[in-house]
Amino acid sequence: MSHRYALFGHPVAHSLSPRIHAAFAKQCGVAMEYALIDATPDDFSTALESFAREGGAGGNVTVPHKQAALALCDHISERARRCGAVNTLMRRDDGWFGDNTDGIGLVRDLTQRHRHDLRERRTLLLGAGGAAAGIAPALLDAGIGSLCIVNRTPTRAADLAATLATPARVQARHWDELGSLGAFDLIVNATAAALEPAALDLPPMRIHAGTLAVDLGYGEAAVDFVTWACRAGCAAAIDGLGMLVEQAAEAFSLWHGRRPAADSVYALLRCDRQLTAMD
Ligand code: NAP
Repeated sequence: MSHRYALFGHPVAHSLSPRIHAAFAKQCGVAMEYALIDATPDDFSTALESFAREGGAGGNVTVPHKQAALALCDHISERARRCGAVNTLMRRDDGWFGDNTDGIGLVRDLTQRHRHDLRERRTLLLGAGGAAAGIAPALLDAGIGSLCIVNRTPTRAADLAATLATPARVQARHWDELGSLGAFDLIVNATAAALEPAALDLPPMRIHAGTLAVDLGYGEAAVDFVTWACRAGCAAAIDGLGMLVEQAAEAFSLWHGRRPAADSVYALLRCDRQLTAMD
């Protein structure tokens, strides 16, 4: 049986995924190789085909290939279908099976690790890319009260809202309305602004004493948003490190039929990086 796994993305050199999967594999006594495959959008499908030919058993997919990965799968899970994006691949005899573990990863981190109750939260989702699409259905399933999607390119927010099967709880609004939408109980930054030259430009917004702010980015990429949240008076600000570890644990379970203990791996990475969470 093949034990070859890989992360496909562009860029991928910065990724913590090989370290996370190596720790899970050691913990569970599984022999696996986990490589980083940097493929441009033009090269992604060829890279995936070569990987399958060379015995690749599974993989993860990151920016910017999550939607393209869905189109290359022969079978997808219900949650990948609802997200319109795939972040986890498993090779089967009849082709690639695609899943999406981002949403469950985020919800587990917030509810089980950080012990936040998401139910009835009036939620603002900043961004409408692959990550936003990956987490929106899981947040709705976790019982948030409403989801307001705001994106720099407004049509993408409207498109994402239209894919979610709960129109009464979902709306798309424009970035320039951010200051007038009232206070949110949960603000999730799913933009890639920290990776881009143009910084996230948030207008003054109403924040209340219970507002929870979450950045899907981690490390340096989360510093600006977490700092903004602290200064704005949010009750807690959490970065995406826990989500990263949890989505990886879910992918590992799918591949190997065994759930690793994510907490010790999370603690190690958190300690190493002195990362940004205020909770
Ligand atoms: P993506 O598909 O490329 O989407 C990027 C999003 O960011 C788009 O909505 C884009 O808006 C917005 N954006 C980019 N620069 C911006 C700026 N300067 N101001 C405002 N909005 C801006 O990327 P993605 O896959 O959704 O990833 C988003 C972030 O989530 C990344 O930082 C990624 O590392 C993180 N992430 C973390 C995890 C985890 O496990 N912790 C998992 C997945 C993703 P436009 O539509 O206007 O371009």
